[in-house]
Amino acid sequence: MFKNTAFTALTLALLTGCGSAASLPDVVRDTDSAAAARRIAQSSIIADTHIDVPYRLEKNPADISAATEDGDFDYPRAVTGGLNVAFMSIYTPAKLEADGGSRKVAESLIDKVDGIVEQSPDKFAIARNVADVREQFKAGLISLPLGMENGSPIEGDLRNIGHFYNRGIRYITLTHSLSNHIADSSYDDHRQWHGLSEFGFDVVREMNRLGMMIDVSHVTDAAFWQIIATSKTPVIASHSSARHFTPGFERNMNDEMIVALAKRGGVIQINFGSSFISQTTRDYSDARSVARKQYLAQNPDLREDDIYRSFAESYAEEHGPLPFATLNDVLDHFDHVVSLVGVDHVGIGSDYDGVGDSLPVGLKDVASYPNLVQGLLERGYREADIVKILGENLLRVWQAVEDHARS
Ligand SMILES: [Zn+2]
Repeated sequence: MFKNTAFTALTLALLTGCGSAASLPDVVRDTDSAAAARRIAQSSIIADTHIDVPYRLEKNPADISAATEDGDFDYPRAVTGGLNVAFMSIYTPAKLEADGGSRKVAESLIDKVDGIVEQSPDKFAIARNVADVREQFKAGLISLPLGMENGSPIEGDLRNIGHFYNRGIRYITLTHSLSNHIADSSYDDHRQWHGLSEFGFDVVREMNRLGMMIDVSHVTDAAFWQIIATSKTPVIASHSSARHFTPGFERNMNDEMIVALAKRGGVIQINFGSSFISQTTRDYSDARSVARKQYLAQNPDLREDDIYRSFAESYAEEHGPLPFATLNDVLDHFDHVVSLVGVDHVGIGSDYDGVGDSLPVGLKDVASYPNLVQGLLERGYREADIVKILGENLLRVWQAVEDHARS
């Protein structure tokens, strides 16, 4: 219904000299559709709900208002890519839940984003609501709304949700890689709550009351279904892809969940990380992490963080490089969600600066959104539908959450 197969086949034939979809180049060529894609990327609001700039800067300070050598995000590349709304991830590592100090980390990361805006008020602005986003888009500013990844900084006190709301947080991903006091995590075999804790149910209701988006990325399926049954507003998955392509990977959403999310007006924001997109990449990185665990067991003095990169390098020498997903693979995820629930319930949650060097060919950084647009055009998507995918779907959910709180 959303694709014009004849157009796609013709375009492919022109592009590649044959009619086979398999031979579409990974990085699409400069054709008329490339110019159209650049125009659409510049003229419409692109909202990306998960960019890990704050934690990247915590580890490696840099001036992102100018071009940076490393990382996936900086101002010049964001301008090239047409990015307008970059949700800054206020991420706290899961182990801090037990060790203490998650709230402190969250506060300091929020300070960091405030500092970026104070330093470059001609480039960036915090966005506290959808009206801010639209005004700042007109003024040529990149909006930096805040999303909290891991509800651990709430520290068991509902009043902290109001505190973080006042500091600008507009969504909370309830867990990260470990079960916490709010919900169980898809990455954690220890399922202490069988979904949400009692406090977790209260968190969902308080977020509804305040006008914060609930993010179902990272939680278990059981927690997802409880959130869907409890929340009075549509919810988002800020950075999750379709489990259809990665069977058994609970971190991505299965078809039934995508349908339920959409039925309640929500949106799934596709994660670009290769291991979220491609089973081939997943198999490689699963085998690599088994090997890494064995190596660490044999060398108990070493810490995982310290050997992460060097281990990946020596693993690649022995087993070949990580097989990256491609732009086409990412487009398959968009197509899949659209085939299930239409164009109103899918968007972008790239995880830039959060997935290391595992980004797909053709989508390596925030300058790449036009490639995504071009890919959608070449698959026959209409401009009006692309505009929804780029940002309007997310803004619709955010507005509904705001309206609910006001009523
Ligand atoms: Zn994440």
